[in-house]
Amino acid sequence: MSDRDGKIWMDGQMVDWRDAKIHVLTHTLHYGCGAFEGVRAYKTPQGTAIFRLQEHTDRLFNSAKILRMAIPFTKEQVNEAHRAVVRDNLLESCYLRPLTWIGDKKLGVSPKGNTIHLMVAAWAWGAYLGEEGLKRGIRVKTSSYTRHHVNITMTQAKAVSNYTNSILANMEVTDEGYDEALLLDSSGFVSEGAGENIFIVKNGVIYTPDLSAGALNGITRNTVFHIAKDLGLDIVQKRITRDEVYIADEAFFTGTAAEVTPIRELDRIELGAGSRGPITEKIQNAFFDIVGGRNPKYAHWLTLV
Ligand code: PMP
Repeated sequence: MSDRDGKIWMDGQMVDWRDAKIHVLTHTLHYGCGAFEGVRAYKTPQGTAIFRLQEHTDRLFNSAKILRMAIPFTKEQVNEAHRAVVRDNLLESCYLRPLTWIGDKKLGVSPKGNTIHLMVAAWAWGAYLGEEGLKRGIRVKTSSYTRHHVNITMTQAKAVSNYTNSILANMEVTDEGYDEALLLDSSGFVSEGAGENIFIVKNGVIYTPDLSAGALNGITRNTVFHIAKDLGLDIVQKRITRDEVYIADEAFFTGTAAEVTPIRELDRIELGAGSRGPITEKIQNAFFDIVGGRNPKYAHWLTLV
């Protein structure tokens, strides 16, 4: 991934892709304290537009605040860096990855006196859980790994270190042939996927875990709240058990990478009809209309590059 043409925004400069390097004694590489975002830009009739850029930048700054890291750029500079990498890499639709990390000025657990850095990269990335998954739904397994408790590495920060837990869960279940992992919180209630929020549908009502289950406050999750309201559907945030998922009529994952992906099976139990459900399909269509610039009500969520 590092040996290719292109440009990456790094600490205020646009640098060649191959030269966007850091030292092996970088603090974040050793201790895992850093924060990132996953952002997408879509081709729209008005041109390429970044979806909910301001909300992603706000969450990045909030993650840094939680981790006691002072990002040495303004939100406006960070937003502009996103637009510039899409433009400079001539991308029509893409995934964007901003990351803030602690530098290589000194090592030792305390980052005091070290430097804070930021980069933004962008590249073409299709459906995260596969085109087929978007249509037919994916096969999910409950992981044996527990999602972070809310008082360990902080679950409202999109912290680099939180992803060891996601990696372990994802590898565990994909090694067994499943598409993605579902994680339960430390009390055994449904939390989220390895990189997605989860929703279930039962008798026409949509349910999703409240954030005390340790799930990230997903921006796609929030987008689905708006879509459901527009469709006249109720969303309830509550504690959800894994067997409530087994007997749900429909279930789906949401995320910037995963978009809106139906879940057709959990732990080898078919959910509902075992295919994409009708409410999931409606939400998916509304989602792709919004990100694709075909719903003027949400034009303010699109930042043209
Ligand atoms: N949970 C986790 C653990 C994630 O990594 C993501 C992806 N950022 C999400 C939920 C979904 O968040 P969003 O919709 O903001 O991408």
